[in-house]
Amino acid sequence: EIPVLTIDGPSGSGKGTASRAVAQRLGWNFLDSGAIYRSLAVAVLRAGVPLDAVDAIVRVAEAMDLSFTADDPPKVLLDGENIAGEIHTETCGNAASRIAAHGPVRQALLQKQRDFRRAPGLVADGRDMGTVVFPEAVYKVFLTASAGVRALRRHKQLKEKGIDVSLGGLTREIEERDRRDRERAEAPLLMAEGAVLIDSSALTIDEVVVRCLAVVGL
Ligand code: C5P
Repeated sequence: EIPVLTIDGPSGSGKGTASRAVAQRLGWNFLDSGAIYRSLAVAVLRAGVPLDAVDAIVRVAEAMDLSFTADDPPKVLLDGENIAGEIHTETCGNAASRIAAHGPVRQALLQKQRDFRRAPGLVADGRDMGTVVFPEAVYKVFLTASAGVRALRRHKQLKEKGIDVSLGGLTREIEERDRRDRERAEAPLLMAEGAVLIDSSALTIDEVVVRCLAVVGL
């Protein structure tokens, strides 16, 4: 049995950075499932397919040739072209979250995600890794942080990009998105049964990494 550690949680919880570091420390493979949804969004936008055309999106998902390299940062190869720079834009994130709301689209991406499970192990980062994609995983983490802290982190990121928005507005936006994520019909953001809850509000990334490693027994 190839072991899997799932790390689910909302954006701003420090999930991306921490889970990548955990995979590196363990020497395990890494699945950034958000990058798969984002890459599909790029393919869909490029094909001129509307974001609510479920059947057409499923066909794009089935046809796309997607792979990630082991570089740091990894290259994201969509039909041979590196789209790593493109997938982190706001436009792409929004499109990803809209196509991720369609059940058949999630279904079409299921096997692509499960294929990441290769020896010696896998760290899977996402929203539904422990609940839907790898429900049988032995190690599960739910990483969260208060809405206020996540808003602060986002505020700092935006400021570094020269974008200044109100912190109160950001906090309200994040609380609203949390509610939507929990209540949505398809793959709601819920803590998997048996998951270890880690609240990163008062923790550094290194402290989060240590706690995740402890879940695997290190
Ligand atoms: O985590 P990231 O921000 O890269 O994910 C982009 C979008 O993809 C999220 O807003 C979410 O809607 C969707 N997603 C998902 N299930 C996952 C990973 C991401 O629905 N496992």
